[in-house]
Amino acid sequence: MQLIDGKLKAAEILEQVKAGVEGQVKADGARPGLTVVLVGEDPASQVYVRNKEKRAEEAGFNGQLIRLPSTTSESDLLAVIDKLNTDKSVHGILVQLPLPEQINEQAVIGAIAPEKDVDGFHEVNGGRLLNGDSRAMVPCTPLGCLHLIETVIPDLKGMHAVIIGRSNIVGKPLSMLLLQKSCTVTITHSKTRDLPNVCAGADILIAAVGVPELVKADWVKPGAVVIDVGINRVARDGKQVLVGDVDFDAVRDIASAITPVPGGVGPMTIACLLSNTLAASR
Ligand code: NDP
Repeated sequence: MQLIDGKLKAAEILEQVKAGVEGQVKADGARPGLTVVLVGEDPASQVYVRNKEKRAEEAGFNGQLIRLPSTTSESDLLAVIDKLNTDKSVHGILVQLPLPEQINEQAVIGAIAPEKDVDGFHEVNGGRLLNGDSRAMVPCTPLGCLHLIETVIPDLKGMHAVIIGRSNIVGKPLSMLLLQKSCTVTITHSKTRDLPNVCAGADILIAAVGVPELVKADWVKPGAVVIDVGINRVARDGKQVLVGDVDFDAVRDIASAITPVPGGVGPMTIACLLSNTLAASR
């Protein structure tokens, strides 16, 4: 079994991004900028935002963090986005989700200029991805999954990929990326009948569910590549630990390659965010 090292691949991408940023600075005389907007004090969001900011600065971007109180109204947030949309020094805008309940997330995502939507959540980018339009900003987690899969299967033509999960941020965009690579794609979800059996037909099995260790050994075809997107906090031996959606210890000896949690898909998400930001600045 090969462990698919997301930290290593992410570091490679970040090196390329860093070189690309310096190239942009030489060409334009200005540093590409990423602005992250955080509304409220959600502890998990604060950690994510700090990581993104840190990595962005390491890669040479002009990082900016706008913190707004949890009582911010939708119209005030939209006004901030409007300003960022027209600010030429800002190439990428990321609004950290979830937003407080008085704010409609779709309205906010839809207000970001599509070419600055480095998360790839705007419906224009969703449509472009569906159409195979190269201008699409592709959501970072599925893009990271694709890069990891390609480290072990460079030619995906004809492979049967089964995705568990149909969210707009992971399952659906990943299905489009794999389809573009000529995989045969099956998307499954909570209403799928006989899920273990469907999964057992996969050459590539991707779990993006949010259910700790859902995928068991008999769900996996011997030799399959397994990508675990899940990040679940569970209590174990009196401690909080992170586990994925795959029962790693049971599956590792059946799969030919598998991503660990943590250290698999997670680091790729930020790396792809920064490669999207570089692309946006170009
Ligand atoms: P969502 O909750 O939006 O979607 C979960 C999907 O899983 C839904 O399609 C749901 O089906 C399906 N599902 C839920 N329970 C089952 C089940 N028992 N059997 C089959 N399908 C099921 O989650 P996300 O896509 O946002 O995230 C998925 C996981 O990935 C989470 O653990 C999240 O923390 C993690 N994540 C990790 C990231 C990273 O950087 N590594 C980034 C983003 C997410 P239905 O549609 O029918 O309800």
